[in-house]
Amino acid sequence: QNDMFNAGKYEKAVTQDSKEICIQLNAGLNHEDDDLPAQTDGIGLYRTEISFMLCDSLPSEEQQVGWYRNLLSKFKGLPVCMRTLDVGGDKALSYLPIEENNPALGWRGVRVCIDQPNILKTQLRAMLLANKDFGNLEIMIPMVSRLEEVVIVKRILNEAFYEIEEETGSKIPRPRFGVMIEVPCVAFMLDELAAECDFFSIGSNDLISYLFAADRANPKVSKLFDAFNPAAVRYLKYLIDRATSLQRPISVCGEIAGSPIGCMLLMSLGYTKLSMNYSQISMVKYIVKNINLQDLQAVGKQAMALNSSVKIKQLYIEYAKSKG
Ligand code: PEP
Ligand code: MG
Repeated sequence: QNDMFNAGKYEKAVTQDSKEICIQLNAGLNHEDDDLPAQTDGIGLYRTEISFMLCDSLPSEEQQVGWYRNLLSKFKGLPVCMRTLDVGGDKALSYLPIEENNPALGWRGVRVCIDQPNILKTQLRAMLLANKDFGNLEIMIPMVSRLEEVVIVKRILNEAFYEIEEETGSKIPRPRFGVMIEVPCVAFMLDELAAECDFFSIGSNDLISYLFAADRANPKVSKLFDAFNPAAVRYLKYLIDRATSLQRPISVCGEIAGSPIGCMLLMSLGYTKLSMNYSQISMVKYIVKNINLQDLQAVGKQAMALNSSVKIKQLYIEYAKSKG
């Protein structure tokens, strides 16, 4: 089976009707000695907190510049989307303990960064410095729930940007800037957010969890966490349609993007940019090569009219079977 999937390596992911699907990698640590860049269209999500989690104290600007430079140079010529520090919730730093009764609804993601602007500023400076010679950096912010958060992060990013230009006496590349859609309320702020950013990226793990108020790690309620529930399907359809009409690229970097029927669901709704773990890339490429996007989008239309997760899933399974 692996050989069959490996056949997808080193090739662009193109459907049978010649539509290109952008397949990106979710990364956390630098992979030093492999051929990852050759297999992907860049990095759709670099979880910076993983490197922070491996330190005993806050990493310095210099240390971070080293990490980020490695990754940007390794993926030279391909986009590398770095997410600002996303701690809190289920991710903890020993040197920044967060103890709360309800961490999923607490101090996490961009909320922490805004309250600790020095941590954020150092990180943004390090990203910009690392990008000086490469220009393939993109920056996105996690757990956004208000327009004001985006405005504050952009202000700090701008400060960092002009500081560095002044310090180095030279122009530096300006990274594309994105907002993650993980907190459901932002769906109703897409117009205003689009005016402040270049792209959107859906963190479907958190988004689906908040949409159904269900923790997928809790076996008593995990079945409620369901991307195939009609509410989730319609929600995802709304997001792609709205972002498209606002002319903002929108990708999905949560786990559904790398699951066999999850990626079919997304493509059927119109998503053409998916980011996933390394181990899922060849399987998703294999699926992309075996679907006809136009047919699959017709399946997506049918799915929108169904009233249960079971029926919706069945549609995609049938489609997959029809393709062998
Ligand atoms: C997500 O929530 O889907 C996401 C990509 O972020 P993380 O899994 O790191 O919380
Ligand atoms: Mg998340």
